Amino acid sequence: MTDSMAGVPAPGNAGMDDPPRGEPETNGAAPPPEADAAPGPPRPRIGDTRPAPPRPVPRPVVGGPVANGAPPPQPPAAVVGGEVPADGDEAAPKRSRSRRRGGRSSRGRSVGRYFMCVHVQPELTQIAMLEGRSLVEHYVARGSDETTQIDGNIYWGRVQNVLPGMEAAFIDIGIPKNAVLYRGDVRYDRDDIESSTAKEQPRIEDVLRPGQTILCQVTKNPIGAKGARLTQEVSLPGRFAVLVPNSGTFGISKRLGDNERRRLRRIIDDVRPAGHGLIVRTAAEGATADELARDVATLLEQWTAIEAEASRSDQPRLLYREPDLAVRLLREELNTEYRAVIIDDPALYEQVRRYVASVSPELAERVELYDTEIEPLPLFERYHVHEQLHKALDRKVWLPSGGSLIIERTEALTVIDVNTGKNVGKTNLEETVYRNNLEAAEEVARQLRLRDIGGIIVIDFIDMEIRENRDKVGSALRTALARDKTRTQVGDISELGLVEMTRKRISEGLIESLSTTCEICSGRGIVLDTAAL
Ligand SMILES: [Zn+2]
Repeated sequence: MTDSMAGVPAPGNAGMDDPPRGEPETNGAAPPPEADAAPGPPRPRIGDTRPAPPRPVPRPVVGGPVANGAPPPQPPAAVVGGEVPADGDEAAPKRSRSRRRGGRSSRGRSVGRYFMCVHVQPELTQIAMLEGRSLVEHYVARGSDETTQIDGNIYWGRVQNVLPGMEAAFIDIGIPKNAVLYRGDVRYDRDDIESSTAKEQPRIEDVLRPGQTILCQVTKNPIGAKGARLTQEVSLPGRFAVLVPNSGTFGISKRLGDNERRRLRRIIDDVRPAGHGLIVRTAAEGATADELARDVATLLEQWTAIEAEASRSDQPRLLYREPDLAVRLLREELNTEYRAVIIDDPALYEQVRRYVASVSPELAERVELYDTEIEPLPLFERYHVHEQLHKALDRKVWLPSGGSLIIERTEALTVIDVNTGKNVGKTNLEETVYRNNLEAAEEVARQLRLRDIGGIIVIDFIDMEIRENRDKVGSALRTALARDKTRTQVGDISELGLVEMTRKRISEGLIESLSTTCEICSGRGIVLDTAAL
C-alpha cells in the first residue's frame, strides 16, 4: 500500500488546532473515560455462537508454517477489556504508574480492550478498530490517494495568487488542485514586512507574493471542491514528542499529571534541540530519558533530510510523506489498552512491527501476522468486522427495544430520524418515548463515530412532553459523545425534539470511502419518468 490514507487524525495536528499545542485529542495513553469501568465483552459462554476473542498468538515465524492444521481458536486468553483479578499475578492497580507503557499482562499475555485488524488488498487497505468485539472505527487507505489523502505531508509550494478578501492564498504544491493557506497559518518574519504598522498579524498580501516559494505542511485533506489546507508552521510527530522546527514552541501535554510533567520537563531540558520547538505528548507518560532522546533524535534526522530535499530545487513538490496508515494510527494511539494489532499482509506486518519495536519495544509482541495461508477464514470474517461494516453502511439502525434510527446524509448536513418500535404506548407513552430516545442518544453517538460523519448533524428525537426528560436525553447524548475522540458540539434539545450538533470533519466518511455515486440518478435516488415530461 502507499502512504495515502483516509480518516486518520492528522498527525501534524498535534496541537495545531488548539494552541497551546498540547495534545491532539486523538492521542494519548489516556483511555476514554469509561475505560477502567467498562467490563468489556463477556468471555464466551456455553451457547455463545461467536468464536472466542482473539488472543495474542505466540510470535509467528514469518514465512514459515506455524503448524499445519492450525489449532482451533484458543480460549480467550487475551482477556477482553478488563482485568482478571483471579490470576493474581496482576495485582497492581490498573492506572498505577507501575504498569505504564509496559502493559498489563495476565499469565504473560497482554490485556487490553482495543484490537486493531488490518486487512490488506491490492490498492486498498482497511483498518478496523474494535472495542471488545464491537467495531468502533473503520479506516480506508487507497493506493490511488496520492493527491487526496495527503494530510501531514510536507511540500515545497509556490504561491499562485493571494486573495486579500478571503485572507487566503492559493499554493501550488505539485498536485493538480491548489492548496489553501489562510492568514492565520502563515509564518513570517516581522522584519520582512514593509507596512508593519499594525501590531496585530499583518495582512496576507503583505506577507505572500505570487511566485514566492514556501515550505508548508498539509493540515487537512482536500474534501470535495475544497483544496487541501496548509500551514507554514510545520510539525513532525514522533511517538513521544512532536518537533516544531525553527520555533520557540514548547509544551507538555496537559493530560499528564503534575509530577509526570515535572519529570518530563527535566528530561526535555536535556534533549530539547537548539533552535527548535518541542511538544511532549501524552504518550510520553512513563517514557525514559533514553526513549525521549531517541525519539527526538529521529525527528531531527527527519527534519534535516527534509531541509536538504527542500534546498535541491525550487519546483513545487512533495518533500516528506507520512508513513502508512497503520503506522500512522499506531503512532497516535498505540498504548497498553491495545491487546493486539493483527495484520494479514506479511510486508506490512514487518513494517509495523519494526516501527513498534523501535518506539515501544514492550508492545512489539502485540503486533501479529494473520497468516491467510493457514487461517480458515479471512481476517474480517474471523473477527466479525465484515458483518458489522455492512450494518454501518445501512440507512437503518435498530435499537435494542425495537425502535430505530434512519440516517440520511444530504449535501449540507446529516439528518438522523429517531423512530419508536411498534409497542409504543402500552403503559405510558411519555415513558416509552423517553426510554427509546435514551437508547437512540447512545446509538447516535456510536454511529457518528463508526460512520465518521462530520459537519452539521440534526437529530430528530421523538417529542417528549416533559422538559426534564428532554434534558436527560440531551445529557445522555453528550455523555455518549464524550467517548468520541473527534470533537463535537451539541446544542440543547428543542421543543420539537430537535438537536443540532456538529462533529469535526476529519475525512470523507465511511459510506463515501466505500462507495461511488449512482450514475443513473446521480445520487438522487429517483429516475424521472421522461415519457410523461
Ligand atoms: Zn440511482
